[in-house]
Amino acid sequence: MESYDYILAGAGCAGLSLVYYMLESKQLKNCKILLIDPMGGNIPNKTWCYWSEKPLQIHPLKSEIFKWSNLSFRSDEKTLKKHLGDLQYFHLNSSDFFNSILDKIQHFPNVTFIKDSVTDLKSFEDKVYLNTSSSGEFIADFAFDSRLNPTGGFFDKHLKQIFSGWTIESETDLFDPETITMMDFPKNESNKFHFFYLLPFTKNKALVEFTVYSVEPISEENLEVELRNYLTKLTRNQNFNIVFRETGIIPMSTQINPTITSERIIPIGTNGGWTKASTGYTFHTIQKNCIQLVENLESGNLKEYRIFKSSRFNFYDNILLNIAYKWPKSLQRLFFNLFETSKAETVLRFLNEETGFAEELKMLSKLRFKIFIKSLLKYESH
Ligand SMILES: Cc1cc2nc3c(=O)[nH]c(=O)nc-3n(C[C@H](O)[C@H](O)[C@H](O)COP(=O)(O)OP(=O)(O)OC[C@H]3O[C@@H](n4cnc5c(N)ncnc54)[C@H](O)[C@@H]3O)c2cc1C
Repeated sequence: MESYDYILAGAGCAGLSLVYYMLESKQLKNCKILLIDPMGGNIPNKTWCYWSEKPLQIHPLKSEIFKWSNLSFRSDEKTLKKHLGDLQYFHLNSSDFFNSILDKIQHFPNVTFIKDSVTDLKSFEDKVYLNTSSSGEFIADFAFDSRLNPTGGFFDKHLKQIFSGWTIESETDLFDPETITMMDFPKNESNKFHFFYLLPFTKNKALVEFTVYSVEPISEENLEVELRNYLTKLTRNQNFNIVFRETGIIPMSTQINPTITSERIIPIGTNGGWTKASTGYTFHTIQKNCIQLVENLESGNLKEYRIFKSSRFNFYDNILLNIAYKWPKSLQRLFFNLFETSKAETVLRFLNEETGFAEELKMLSKLRFKIFIKSLLKYESH
């Protein structure tokens, strides 16, 4: 049985981010590391966005960096446009991200990448034992586990963000390349919270996504019908080319409790509960938590390897999830109200869990919207 210092079960965003920071660390870069993923780094391209003052250290620099300084919320009744202050909204292609980290790994003979599935992961005394579909068994001091199936079991009963998006090129200029549309709310009678998201790369090229918060599954075909209807209206019946498609299901819960509880098997990424339960954003948190994990590994503090979320932010997420479950139609006005009454920068820092309690109290006390109080009174953890 081959032995390693660290094994990563799953080499998606979190697994590869963690390896990146390990290889940046003077103390850890020579450790023996094994990555196992059935996709072998050949993962379908996804669009990842995050906000910060400048591009994160891990942001691949070889590709063009798309960034925006404004965001808007739209409905039939009103449009709200806000400047992001010192923040910017950044975009990256997951394939550029994976390629840049896979290139880095090539320079480290101490890192091995196996294309296979992990079938079993358990710990005994001070070691971790891992089995695979076809490459046999491995042993390590620690394992980081990002395997997750967002459909089935736990996720069948919980809210998910289900979306389909197309990057389109239109014949005429349609978009403001300085401004992303976080949420454009369609006028219809659905009892689910749903919106369109627009990421304009140029005046005639944008990613347009349709997102629904739903417990029940929603077919890609149904999402694409809504998307096409919206685009037909937006382009005023012009032709457009679809140059990229993406689809996704992101779990929205504060209770993602991986079944494995050994202190030597550390859940990471969405599997570690790092996805923001109320919004689905995960990329930036993965980076912050992986940096923290590497610092903890360097200092050898076994108790702090697992990263727990602040209970205060879990509470805020549950308030929003509670509204999404019980009064989904009210969520639209709540998002408007949140961004209307405070600076966009403050709200985004709050959603990134970077604000302090006094700042949060000031921001939330400005909300004119009584659904927030209603959700507080009927508080439940989701
Ligand atoms: C289409 C899409 C767009 C998104 N856009 C954004 C965004 O703009 N901003 C943002 O913050 N977040 C976004 N997210 C959410 C989140 O950032 C991503 O889902 C991110 O990939 C999560 O990282 P992860 O490592 O937890 O999971 P993944 O990247 O999915 O990695 C998990 C890995 O585990 C592997 N695996 C599964 N089973 C096994 C097994 N048995 N053995 C070994 N390996 C296994 C999988 O092959 C996969 O590579 C998006 C998600 C999707 C799906």
